[in-house]
Amino acid sequence: MREKDCIFCKIAAGEIPSATLYEDDEFRVILDLGPASKGHALILPKEHYRNIYDIDEETAAKAIVLAKKMVKKMTDVLGCDGYNIVQNNEECAGQTVFHFHMHLIPRYKGDNVGL
Ligand code: 5GP
Ligand code: ZN
Repeated sequence: MREKDCIFCKIAAGEIPSATLYEDDEFRVILDLGPASKGHALILPKEHYRNIYDIDEETAAKAIVLAKKMVKKMTDVLGCDGYNIVQNNEECAGQTVFHFHMHLIPRYKGDNVGL
């Protein structure tokens, strides 16, 4: 189900252009507009879920499998040394866009990323 006025619904549907790294019927993976490090990406389901409390188990499981594939692929492409996978739920936990997403944050030896 789409949510009216949700920016990530529009990006996931391709209605708003984004730097897309991967797309299939259920997900789009985009570069974050305000990257914490080079290659910071977001996994977006095309269906609207507010966050972990809302998403169904099957879609959550697929998102994790996709995260694993993207991390492997992007480690080769970027030459990074590690990865953080971050997923915020509700405002008190730092969620600012209320459409489920997973942050894939490449890490480089000696970088200074504060999460
Ligand atoms: P949250 O704080 O909700 O976990 O993460 C939201 C993320 O979405 C932030 O890292 C922010 O930079 C990113 N973001 C917000 N609006 C846009 C947008 O319009 N396009 C893209 N590519 N990223 C966005
Ligand atoms: Zn949405």
